[in-house]
Amino acid sequence: MAVYAGAVQDLIDELGRLPGVGPKSAQRIAFHLLQVPRDDALRLATVIGEARDRVRWCSRCFNISEGELCEICADDRRDRSLLCVVEEPRDLVAVEKTGEFHGRYHVLQGAISPIEGIGPDQLRVRELLARIEPEGVVEVILCTNPNIEGEATAMYLARLLKPIGLKVTRIASGLPVGGDLEYADEVTLGRAFEGRREVG
Ligand SMILES: [Zn+2]
Repeated sequence: MAVYAGAVQDLIDELGRLPGVGPKSAQRIAFHLLQVPRDDALRLATVIGEARDRVRWCSRCFNISEGELCEICADDRRDRSLLCVVEEPRDLVAVEKTGEFHGRYHVLQGAISPIEGIGPDQLRVRELLARIEPEGVVEVILCTNPNIEGEATAMYLARLLKPIGLKVTRIASGLPVGGDLEYADEVTLGRAFEGRREVG
């Protein structure tokens, strides 16, 4: 339902496609961008273009990266025997903020969700398995979100990884169920991390 003409409506439509931006917010942001000085508005367009050109996936852990390897993978001081599996780069950031973890990460880039038609093949599971032996991984910490998709993903990975003879752990409960890891405060997430338990 296009209320505004041409270019304004195009802008509102594009903004409305962003996650978490409803029609009202899209309108508000659009008019904000039309009111601020032209250079201020264009700076946004420029950084979007730069981010898209410069940022790619780390070839090892699939975190966002500006080089072949992300900063964490390129850091020799990180313990390669510990591997923390998360769904998204923003979850990695949440774990990093706790200061509790000094190993490496693996970003699945999603979670198993039959409703959305996402299975293990759409995630970086094959790449995860390929890292275990060459990197000498001893413990895999399943740090997926405490919701249905996250739990299903953790269970699937545990079944896959246990037979290899690895220690497979899951972050402790105590996190708000159904919530997102990224919204947990650092202390709570840090505690969940410390209290991780071996999976059956
Ligand atoms: Zn990496």
